[in-house]
Amino acid sequence: MSRGAQVTVAGAGALGLCTALALARAGCRVTVFDPSAPEANASGVAAGMLAPALETVLDGEGERDLGIRLAARDLWPALEAVAGVRLDRSGAVAVGADAWLEGVRSGLNGLGLPGAELGRLTLEALTPGLSTALTRGMMTREDWRLDPRQALGALRAACSEAGVGFRRGVVTERDDADWLVAATGAGRELAPELSVLTPIKGHILRFEGQAAGRVSLRGEGVYAVACAGGLAVGATMEPGVGDASVDPSHGPPLRAAGAALIPGLAGADYEIFAGVRAATPDGLPLVGASREPGVLLAAGARRNGWLLAPLAAQVIAACVAGRDPGPYAARLDPGRR
Ligand SMILES: Cc1cc2nc3c(=O)[nH]c(=O)nc-3n(C[C@H](O)[C@H](O)[C@H](O)COP(=O)(O)OP(=O)(O)OC[C@H]3O[C@@H](n4cnc5c(N)ncnc54)[C@H](O)[C@@H]3O)c2cc1C
Repeated sequence: MSRGAQVTVAGAGALGLCTALALARAGCRVTVFDPSAPEANASGVAAGMLAPALETVLDGEGERDLGIRLAARDLWPALEAVAGVRLDRSGAVAVGADAWLEGVRSGLNGLGLPGAELGRLTLEALTPGLSTALTRGMMTREDWRLDPRQALGALRAACSEAGVGFRRGVVTERDDADWLVAATGAGRELAPELSVLTPIKGHILRFEGQAAGRVSLRGEGVYAVACAGGLAVGATMEPGVGDASVDPSHGPPLRAAGAALIPGLAGADYEIFAGVRAATPDGLPLVGASREPGVLLAAGARRNGWLLAPLAAQVIAACVAGRDPGPYAARLDPGRR
């Protein structure tokens, strides 16, 4: 039993903070290191959708791991209670051409999570400014949302309250800690298993003051979701690109894609942000023990790092405590083939 174990967490994104909080609440002495400013990572840039249903249908990640995504989502209400992360459970609506929408409908049915067909009047009520060309929608209440910046702030505050220390800096080795948790996003330095990670850069736009409904709007290759003070439209998928600098040339096409959903965006001002997702070959993160002694991994969550963070934290806390890490640990094991 490792109660009181000293743990270094490298990385203060969604996975690092959720893990640090779980470990501190289990009695570990935890220090989180990160060289970056608190929101300057993929977690701070993200849209914050907790979308087990539509991500499974739209991202082509397959239904095999739906159970993992649903289980991870269902851990969020506990974090809402413990850390004050605000969740919005209003759901998500897919809108688009008939053939595409039919694919969404049958995809949700195939998952055993049938959506509800919406007509124009209901769509209008749920989504301000929606294009009049969009007359039908498919709604799911399985998908929730959080505001990443609110969530990062709330998690940091809850960590501090639980005794977690924060340091600015890069971790290069475990040093004298009992455990090192590598929650380093797309970083590949701290364990051999991280070499499988590939970067997928993403740009996202924020439209300050733009009215937003509470439901997440999902279109073909684009989404529009509420964010603090406005609306976020995302996101590009740029496989193989690992630098997080903003390339402004992605703004106009992304805004045009958003304007196909909400025409009022066509001439609107926006701010553009970029982040780097880390992807594994099978789309699931690496969570659990590295073959490097004393090193645990929580990285590689691709498009679903916010969704999966509490589950990663639970598995890591169980590993440190020497407990059964639960039914999903084998599927997430960093050594899986
Ligand atoms: C545009 C965009 C939209 C997205 N939308 C969603 C969404 O709607 N829902 C969802 O679930 N996910 C979404 N994602 C994906 C999600 O953002 C990521 O999966 C998630 O943020 C990954 O969190 P993380 O903690 O693993 O990594 P990060 O947030 O990247 O954090 C890693 C941290 O580790 C630090 N670090 C790196 N190396 C070291 C080191 N050696 N020592 C110390 N610190 C180190 C970095 O500075 C960084 O702060 C989106 C991503 C992007 C880019």
